[in-house]
Amino acid sequence: MASPSTLPNTFPDTVPLFIGGEWVKSTSTTFTPVINPATQEVLSQVPAATDAEMDRAIASAKATFQTWKEVPVPQRARIMLNYQHLLKKHHDEIAEIISQELGKTFEDAKGDVWRGIEVVEHAANVASLMMGETVENVAGSIDTYSFVQPIGVCMGITPFNFPAMIPLWMFPLSIACGNTFILKPSERDPLTPTRLVELFEEAGAPKGVMQIIHGGAHQVDYLLEHPDICAGSFVGSVPVGKHIYRKGTENLKRMQCMTGANNHMVVMPDANKNQVVNNIIGSAFGAAGQRCMAIPNVILVGAAAEWAGDIAAAAEKIRPGAWSDKGAAYGPQTNAAAKQKIIAAIATAKTEGATCLLDGSDCTVEGYPDGNWIGPTIFTDVTRDMAVYKDEVFGPVLCLLTMDTLDEAIAAINEDFRGNGTSIFTASGGAARKYQHEILVGQVGINVPIPVPLPFFSFTGWRGSFHGDLHAYGKQAVRFYTETKTITARWFDDDSVSGPNMSINLK
Ligand code: NAD
Repeated sequence: MASPSTLPNTFPDTVPLFIGGEWVKSTSTTFTPVINPATQEVLSQVPAATDAEMDRAIASAKATFQTWKEVPVPQRARIMLNYQHLLKKHHDEIAEIISQELGKTFEDAKGDVWRGIEVVEHAANVASLMMGETVENVAGSIDTYSFVQPIGVCMGITPFNFPAMIPLWMFPLSIACGNTFILKPSERDPLTPTRLVELFEEAGAPKGVMQIIHGGAHQVDYLLEHPDICAGSFVGSVPVGKHIYRKGTENLKRMQCMTGANNHMVVMPDANKNQVVNNIIGSAFGAAGQRCMAIPNVILVGAAAEWAGDIAAAAEKIRPGAWSDKGAAYGPQTNAAAKQKIIAAIATAKTEGATCLLDGSDCTVEGYPDGNWIGPTIFTDVTRDMAVYKDEVFGPVLCLLTMDTLDEAIAAINEDFRGNGTSIFTASGGAARKYQHEILVGQVGINVPIPVPLPFFSFTGWRGSFHGDLHAYGKQAVRFYTETKTITARWFDDDSVSGPNMSINLK
């Protein structure tokens, strides 16, 4: 791995678009700076693609679909194998790009890349994943079987917080299924997806299979309204996800929208205190709280309420820092606006009556005076009507709530409109069984804090954290990116001819 002092700044002045298998400089006159959030250094400028550029990308994806869907499945799978190999080879380099444009610590950035590589490995199994079903003899000499076929041009809209993993949730599996794909990554960290697509091309993806366009709301709406796009995957915030789901379905597209979260951990008094404390620190403050599977709310049940001081003492020992600082627990917030929003949320919590055990709003990091730093922040005496609890703060801010019983905790969590992920820490199988059964949340950890499922399962957020029917990656994504064709066949083996069948029964 290169040390930060030896890292070359090889970023282009403007982030290119990838259209028809060519890297092209946008003719747009609207650009957004890509900023290193630890230093405020402008790394590049990302264009807002023009309508004409998007039309070219869509036309290329549409035309290429006709040939790509005919490429034999093992050949498509082999591209995924090559891609997995290249991603592993360039793993650290991609992680460094993430660290520069998003500020993640190097360790955390490597995790972002690795969790994406796992999905590519899964996509390499596409032949087994696309197997249909067969029943012989459904009626006299009649067999029924199904094929799973690709649907066409798919699109993906991704958030800033996992610039490698989340694009990799989408395009490899969609393309392995035989579709073509248009990615519109977050405008805050487009350099990582650019590198991912360069490597995809190097892995042997034919021209036109993959396109990248850049921009914001207008570009997304343009794609959602375009008749040649069949399906869209979105990951991002609740309001944007609702808008995208509505607009996509209104335009008769198949949509899956993974949205925001307000996750909870329940701590039972019989849990191992040290495990609880360590796991809370990692899941509340890791990645500066900028994970959809972060745990910003911990419900301490019964005597576990006494552990608030231990949690605060452990949090005091960690600090944010630059990506290359091995002592840093996490990096900066994504941008100055996010930092200010979190500082405002901390101030509001104080005025609403929460007790601040640890206040990170005035945080500095030596050598990085301009970074978007927020220190670990902890509130106790938090009630469920407070904004710091109700709203997704998406920063290193932990709310500690106390409740008397597990039933009370389950009821409170089930009342939140989101249902992305949750955890329970307990030594009781009975409490864990009750929790996993009764909680209305799609991803549950038992003594595991951030239950992001591996890609042979799917990412199954529920309720207000998801709009659609079929979830990201795993078998559900294969269903999402394909259509099932059911064939009922009879082959006549003699010349006997019976009369017309006037019923709908198979005879
Ligand atoms: P965001 O909703 O602001 O942006 C996501 C994407 O939507 C970006 O590509 C952005 O350019 C685009 N976009 C923004 N405004 C738009 C608009 N008005 N119309 C159309 N497109 C628009 O989200 P973010 O700040 O990048 O990411 C953080 C959010 O993502 C958090 O709420 C987090 O919980 C959520 N998230 C959810 C998951 C999940 O799997 N459920 C995973 C990661 C992040």
